[in-house]
Amino acid sequence: MSEELQEDDRIFLEQAFTLAEEALNQDEVPVGCVFVVDGEEIGRGRNRVNETGDPTRHAEMVAVTEIWSKYGEESNNLLKKSVLYVSLEPCIMCSSAMYQLGIRKMVYGAENPRFGGVRSVGSAEKYREENNIEIVAGVWAERSVGMLKAFYEKQNPFAPPEKRKTKTPKLWSTTRPFCSVITWTTKSPLSTLAVLQRKTSAVNVLSIRQLNKKPSRSDKSADQKNYTYYVMSLVIVAIGCTFAAIPAYRIFCEQTSFGGLTQVAKDFDKIANMKKCEDRLIRVQFNSDVPSSMRWEFKPQQHEIFVHPGETALAFYTARNPTDKPIIGISSYNLTPFQAAYYFNKIQCFCFEEQILNPGEQVDLPVFFYIDPDYVNDPALEYLDSILLSYTFFEAKSGLKLPDPFDPKNRPSIAPSPDKVPEKSN
Ligand SMILES: [Zn+2]
Repeated sequence: MSEELQEDDRIFLEQAFTLAEEALNQDEVPVGCVFVVDGEEIGRGRNRVNETGDPTRHAEMVAVTEIWSKYGEESNNLLKKSVLYVSLEPCIMCSSAMYQLGIRKMVYGAENPRFGGVRSVGSAEKYREENNIEIVAGVWAERSVGMLKAFYEKQNPFAPPEKRKTKTPKLWSTTRPFCSVITWTTKSPLSTLAVLQRKTSAVNVLSIRQLNKKPSRSDKSADQKNYTYYVMSLVIVAIGCTFAAIPAYRIFCEQTSFGGLTQVAKDFDKIANMKKCEDRLIRVQFNSDVPSSMRWEFKPQQHEIFVHPGETALAFYTARNPTDKPIIGISSYNLTPFQAAYYFNKIQCFCFEEQILNPGEQVDLPVFFYIDPDYVNDPALEYLDSILLSYTFFEAKSGLKLPDPFDPKNRPSIAPSPDKVPEKSN
């Protein structure tokens, strides 16, 4: 996708890469950028996420802030004429911002297959922006990827070198937060959904086929052979049932909000047209748990988000495998208090899907959700402005059993009770 560069382009892109190198030396994700108008630089930035502790301090955002402080109101006009040179395809957050600012052109290094918001997972169409930016993509990709590799290798002291080499195509599985907490307006939930669907499809989901790959080595009599096949098919069916139990449990719980499980949003027209309830602001807190037998590090990237009912929001969890063995994980979740679960809708999340993490590997796991505007009409929730979303990651094994939702002793009390709200589920 690389295109011929003009001499001017080369000079400015070189500066963006120099800034990316500076970021790398400061243990930041190596991304740098320069904004240029009529051959003159108006602002520059590099990633400052770790330095500031602010997950939105991406190179592009840092540069835009600098431009605004330098040029004030004039910035809007300047940015509309500007060319952005950046060492890596801007993430979803930054790309969306660039489209809304209406910059003229973008020249970037490597594609960012998991988070790239220009072409890889996002696009102007998905942000519902008519404005089209001229794009020169995939320039000096190797150099950009080289820096990212250097960064992740620094961050992954546990990964044995020979194993890391085999993971080259999956560089993006180890991506640190390019996008951490974004509260989207209801304007673009569908675009965000599309982004997330593609994004999460990149996450490894173990195929049942892998489990069934047991070669038959029966070379005895035909009867014995048949018997072996019979037993094997039973084993396969049993394994299949174990896996089918998970989607079945999910379907049951999602249909019923059972156990504080939230609703899964399917009516996208409704989402696109729902009205934000400005006068209620709900605090959504995030919690993560791993049982002691699970060796992943798993935590939310934000402790809380404030969201109006009728507004979509995006949050992320991070999971990392610090061990030297691949581990498969699977998560379940619940929401407390249970009453609120009826109104909590997940448009996309990572629960109930198996994820495999290689040694030292880290992934960002998105939760894209909204609270139904009807929340404000439920008298039981009149004084409830704080909810807790909790995910637990288990190590997935063929014998793994999630709690049986039909077992009466697992049945939570979901009756609304105005004077007493359950503290914690499970
Ligand atoms: Zn970004």
